[in-house]
Amino acid sequence: MTSLSARKLSGECPFWLDGAFGLKEDAHGMYLCARRRYRELPRHFIQFHKLTLSNVKKICQALENDKDPSKEILFQSNELVIDQTNQFQCPFSKYNNQSPKMENSIVRPCRTIKPKLPHTLCYHLVRDHGMARSDAKNLMYKIRINGQTLT
Ligand SMILES: [Zn+2]
Ligand SMILES: [Zn+2]
Repeated sequence: MTSLSARKLSGECPFWLDGAFGLKEDAHGMYLCARRRYRELPRHFIQFHKLTLSNVKKICQALENDKDPSKEILFQSNELVIDQTNQFQCPFSKYNNQSPKMENSIVRPCRTIKPKLPHTLCYHLVRDHGMARSDAKNLMYKIRINGQTLT
């Protein structure tokens, strides 16, 4: 496989399924996407799923070899697969200037300064702000899209 063919790889993203290629929401901090096709899967893996380049290559290789994501395990549960530089500040932190406007602000402001990894932030929203898990995930989705840095 050349890197050029990987860049052009298109198809259905396997990560609408929790546990595809062994990647789990809870263990790896994977954020699941909608079940749909993408023209440039590697780009989607990096930009949306925040996977590191070496892992993207590994996944693309498996996809090119027609491996079944629901059966093939590429990653162990303790492996770091998400780009650790992508961290986000709590949207309710009083130190966050870019807080999204909340329609019903039942959530109290918090004092966390340190940005968190997406899945840690998601847990923080549920645990410390009493958000429903589905609401926290929706909010995380907005944060990730807004905070997306294009390199
Ligand atoms: Zn996806
Ligand atoms: Zn907070």
